[in-house]
Amino acid sequence: SVPTSGEIRQQFLDFFKSKGHQIVPSAPIVIKNDPTLLFTNAGMNQFKDYFLGNRVPTSPRVADTQKCLRVSGKHNDLEEVGVDTYHHTMFEMLGNWSFGDYFKKEAIAWSWELLTEVYQLDKDRLYVTIFQGDEKESLAKDEEAYNEWKKVIAEDRILLGNKKDNFWEMGDTGPCGPCSEIHYDCRPEANNDGHSLVNNDHPQVIEIWNNVFMQYNRLKDGSLQPLPAKHVDTGMGFERLVRVIQSKQSNYDTDIFMPTIQAIEKIVGKKYQADNSPLGAGGKQSIAFRVLADHIRTIAFTIADGQLPSNNGAGYVIRRILRRAVRYYYSYLDYKQPLLFQLMPLLAKQFEHVFPELKAQLDFVSKVTKEEEEAFLRTLGKGIELFESYISKVTKVNNETSSKSIIRPTTLNDENKLRDFDAKSGIINGAFAFELNDTYGFPIDLTQLMASEIGWTVDMQGFEEALQQQKNRSRAASVIDTEDWVTVNDVASSFVGYTSLETQTQIV
Ligand code: ATP
Ligand code: MG
Ligand code: MG
Ligand code: MG
Repeated sequence: SVPTSGEIRQQFLDFFKSKGHQIVPSAPIVIKNDPTLLFTNAGMNQFKDYFLGNRVPTSPRVADTQKCLRVSGKHNDLEEVGVDTYHHTMFEMLGNWSFGDYFKKEAIAWSWELLTEVYQLDKDRLYVTIFQGDEKESLAKDEEAYNEWKKVIAEDRILLGNKKDNFWEMGDTGPCGPCSEIHYDCRPEANNDGHSLVNNDHPQVIEIWNNVFMQYNRLKDGSLQPLPAKHVDTGMGFERLVRVIQSKQSNYDTDIFMPTIQAIEKIVGKKYQADNSPLGAGGKQSIAFRVLADHIRTIAFTIADGQLPSNNGAGYVIRRILRRAVRYYYSYLDYKQPLLFQLMPLLAKQFEHVFPELKAQLDFVSKVTKEEEEAFLRTLGKGIELFESYISKVTKVNNETSSKSIIRPTTLNDENKLRDFDAKSGIINGAFAFELNDTYGFPIDLTQLMASEIGWTVDMQGFEEALQQQKNRSRAASVIDTEDWVTVNDVASSFVGYTSLETQTQIV
C-alpha cells in the first residue's frame, strides 16, 4: 500500500534516529534576529552558529523537518510556483546533520539506504551528481564522494556537476564545500535514459535531496582553507519526496495538497483539472488552484509564527503573497469573497501533530487573514477595472498612431497624462503602476504579474521615480503639518522597507 505523507515524514525521522541522531523541532519560519535573512530558507539556518564555531551543538548528529520559505533574497522561487509542479513558496525541508562527526561515507550510504530500502524507490530512476572540480579555484573533483557513490549506484548514473550546482557556500566567507544531489526521474516512460535531463529544468526529472559536505573555510581574501572539523548538511524537499513515493506527476496530486484543493473546489464550485502544463486547457484556472493551495501555507505558517502582514519588511512579503492569492481566486476562479481564511481549520488539523502552533493560533490566524482579504477585496475590483481600461486605451492609441514613439507624462499631477501616458504598447507606465499601488493596494509585483500574463512589462524606473516623489511629498507634508510629530507621523517611513525590499525580492 502507498504510505501517507505523515508516515513518510515519520520514517525519515525514525531512520535518522536509528542512526544516532537527535530529532529536533523546526525553527520558526520567520527569522527575527538575523539582519541578513527575513525567512528560514534551508534547514541549516538554525545551525549556522555551529558551523561558524560560535556555539557548541547539543548533539553532534541531529535531524528534523524544517519549515522553509523561498520568496526573497538568494532563493526566490515565487515565479515558478503554481506554474510548475515542484517549487513551492513554503515547503518542508527534511535534513540530517553531522557537526564534526560523520562525513561522506556515512551520509552517502545512509541516504541511499533510506531511499532504496526504507522508501523502496526505483533504482533505475535515481541519479546522483558530484562536484566536478574547478580549475580557477584549484579545487579537485570530489573523488571521495564519487568512490562512495560507486559502491551503491552504477557509475554511469553518477553525473558531474559544476560549481553552481555542486559547490555550496554559506556566504562570501565561511564554511563551504562540494555537494552531491540526488535526482529522480518521474517520467512514466523512464527507461534508464534520463541522464541528460538531470539539472535541466525538466518538469519530471527533479532534484529531491542535496548532501552538502562542508570541508573548507572561505577567507576574506577569497582563499580556501581546509576546515579542522568537517560537517554534513543535507536537505530533502518533503513534498517532492512524497510525490515520488506516491508515484504522482505533481506535488499537488499528493495527500499533502489534495485535501486543500478539494476544499477549494467545494468553496468555488469548480473542478481542479490536474493539467500540469501551463499551456494546457484551463491552464490559468488550474494554476490558480495550485497557487492557492501553495500560498495558503505560507500565509498560515508565517502569521502563526508571529509575522503580521504589514507595509514593510517580512510583513510586506506576506501581504504581497496574500494579495497575489486573492487576485488569483478573484480573476481565475471567479470568487469574490474572502476564501483563504476558510481553509485554515483544515490546514491546522493536517499539521496538528507536526507544527501544532497553527492549531494553537487558529482563531487569530483566521481573523488576520480574513481582514486582510476583506481589505484588499474592497479595492481589487476597481484596480483591475482600471488596469484593463488602461491596457485597452494604450492599445487603442498605439493602433491609431503609426509611429512607435513613447509618450511619457511630464508631470505626475497631470491627470490626463497619468492615464494616457505611454503609447508604446507592451510597457505599463511606472506612474500608473504606482497609482495602482498607492490607491488600490496593488503590490508592484502583482502589477508585474498581471502585465506578464498579457505579455507586457512595467516601467520600473518610472515606478521608482513616482515612489520617490511620493516619499518626498509626504516627508515635506509631515514636516509642515505636524512639527512635533515628525517621527511618528512620517508617512514616508512606512515605505522605507519597500525600496530596500525591492533589491532582495524582485517578484513577478
Ligand atoms: P531546485 O534546483 O529544484 O530549485 P535547489 O537546488 O534550489 O532546488 P536546495 O537549495 O539544494 O534546492 O535545497 C534542498 C532541497 O530542497 C532540494 O533538493 C529540493 O528537494 C528542495 N527544494 C528546494 N527549493 C524548493 C522549493 N521551492 N519547493 C519545494 N522544495 C524545494
Ligand atoms: Mg532552487
Ligand atoms: Mg538545484
Ligand atoms: Mg540543490
